[in-house]
Amino acid sequence: MDIIHLLPDSVANQIAAGEVIQRPASCLKELVENSLDAGATRIQVIVRDAGRTLLQVIDNGSGMSEMDARLAFERHATSKIQEAQDLFSLRTMGFRGEALASICAVAQVEMTTRRNEDETGTLIEIHGSDVVRQEPCSCPVGTNIKVSNLFFNVPVRRKFLKTDQTELRNLLTEFYHIVLVYPKVAFTFVHNDEILLELPAGTEKQRIEAVFGNSKKNVYTSAFVEVNTDTELVSIRGFVVKPENATRKAEQYFFVNGRYMRHPYFLKAVQTAYSGMLTADYQPSFFIYFTIAPEAIDVNIHPTKTEIKFADEQAIFQILMASVREALGKFTLAPTLDFDAQGSIDIPLPSTEPVAAPHVTVDPTYNPFHTRGAIYPDKAPKNWESLYEALSTPRDLEISTSQEMTISDTAPIWQYGGKYIFVAVENGLLMINQHRAHVAVLYARFLEQLANTQGAMQQLLFPEVLTLTPDQMASLLPLLPDLKAIGFDLEQLSPDSYAIQGVPSQLTNQSAVPVIQHILQQVRERGADTQREWREQIALALAEQGAIVYGKPLTETEMRELVAQLIQLPSYRRTADGKTIVSLMSDDEINKRF
Ligand code: ADP
Ligand code: MG
Repeated sequence: MDIIHLLPDSVANQIAAGEVIQRPASCLKELVENSLDAGATRIQVIVRDAGRTLLQVIDNGSGMSEMDARLAFERHATSKIQEAQDLFSLRTMGFRGEALASICAVAQVEMTTRRNEDETGTLIEIHGSDVVRQEPCSCPVGTNIKVSNLFFNVPVRRKFLKTDQTELRNLLTEFYHIVLVYPKVAFTFVHNDEILLELPAGTEKQRIEAVFGNSKKNVYTSAFVEVNTDTELVSIRGFVVKPENATRKAEQYFFVNGRYMRHPYFLKAVQTAYSGMLTADYQPSFFIYFTIAPEAIDVNIHPTKTEIKFADEQAIFQILMASVREALGKFTLAPTLDFDAQGSIDIPLPSTEPVAAPHVTVDPTYNPFHTRGAIYPDKAPKNWESLYEALSTPRDLEISTSQEMTISDTAPIWQYGGKYIFVAVENGLLMINQHRAHVAVLYARFLEQLANTQGAMQQLLFPEVLTLTPDQMASLLPLLPDLKAIGFDLEQLSPDSYAIQGVPSQLTNQSAVPVIQHILQQVRERGADTQREWREQIALALAEQGAIVYGKPLTETEMRELVAQLIQLPSYRRTADGKTIVSLMSDDEINKRF
């Protein structure tokens, strides 16, 4: 029996139209979801040039009849819903009958497919919606679909594709979202003839280990505790990282009824459950699977969206937070200090009074942080007053005033709350965030070193091993030349690991692995696709890692030096990622308070 039928128009109209295929990753998602819908237990993904040249998915699912093989490529041809009502109780992945039609319109598609009950299979070849070949063929049960030269007839789309590294990362991200909810299905992912992931069928935990652990032993998953809660409204299962194993780079995954979703509100619930347990900047990793009656969530008509609306979000927030708390409660931990969480002083910048460019006189050659390695310049400008002139370029005019402010080396200066430097200036009180100030200073230095490929390298006595997931690997490759320029000495050990043999001399007191992980995470989160952006992200990530932390007591000399360094920067008021560094409370404002 043929099982595909055309959707009535009324239904078709209820389905929001939208572009299904935006990039190789969306194409891959549609193909793999079709294989899953067809009941496959083994799915192979073969990719060439990050999907530009080839995206192939081979499954051992139900296969299609000769007639269905042809119909599958018609718009709104689906075997999955018949009536509009079905949309609301949908349990399969695809349902709009649009994916294959969209794909074959923008690529060259060749498919072989055979059902178990058929002797011969069908081969069909379609180029940009034109069927160029359909004939019987011999092939295994299941479906083998090859999508070549994606967007060959849409040059604009093709041009909009990012670098191979980025597109590969997108492919893997999409792939992770799927494989993490189908642990019982075996997957492989091959890119340019290299097997990037080989995932045997197993439990959820084994799947997580296979994707992120890079090892047979449960090294990765042993850092997690299980969450398991059943209520009438929702059931929540999964794994959350033990607080002591949290890292800056977090893997955070929510799934609902077998689908990946983004949910910033529920993310808050998880973060709240961890509050007081994590060091500043650290994020909890988690894999949380929700099961809920399909009626209680808003069916996501648009397949490319990953945000899902729940009918009862507040109740679920509470249940989620309580479940994570309970899971974590099995560990007794002394909460670590989180300086950012302490009541921060939030004095608004006076709106009418712009911050004046301060005038400072200190000895800039003094290196206050010598104990932490050569963080401070060996070549601090002697005539920095002339640099101050440079502050009054038109770009900075809005923040400087004609009124000159002086920070003399006898001006009262003190550290407040382990976090701020307060210094009296001529017309008020200047408040400076110590960590951010140092981030800005280091950022400028690292950028300069990157531009001049002159980072000083310190050989490590004991090389550290950096093990990476395939998507991290894809992020790392384009960064390698710059990492080398700044002073990292990396040698590839295996397809997924590097030996770190040397680090920038500013970072000798730190473990190198988290520093690189942090860089990779920043590149991923903030998005960087050009060398300039890579350099900025590397410089910023290194600066964040190398900068003095909150809570570090500073001597008077250290404070004066840091302030002097800071205001030499062309943009000393904000960090490269836009955080406020300095704030001035003017005399007027102080007087007004009384
Ligand atoms: P949808 O998945 O939304 O129904 P698609 O365009 O993705 O729409 O697929 C159209 C139809 O082709 C599906 O309903 C299904 O019947 C059939 N099909 C697609 N891929 C496969 C596959 N790998 N195995 C078996 N049938 C498939
Ligand atoms: Mg589909």
